[in-house]
Amino acid sequence: MSDALRRLLGPTGEDVGCDGCFEHLDRYVELEAAGADADAAVPGMRTHLIGCPACGEEHESLLALVSTDRD
Ligand SMILES: [Zn+2]
Repeated sequence: MSDALRRLLGPTGEDVGCDGCFEHLDRYVELEAAGADADAAVPGMRTHLIGCPACGEEHESLLALVSTDRD
């Protein structure tokens, strides 16, 4: 892992895991789309999305969906 990525992820290295990700993804994406601090609301989510391609992809498509709805 690069230093830049490590800084981005913060000192805890917390990771919600796939179960936690699945559980919180809807809320996380809604907060993100609303411009709220989604990472503060769901700590460890960003770490997981970066580290888990499957959930990262799910997040991308959900975010795209929410953004499309908004327009
Ligand atoms: Zn995952």
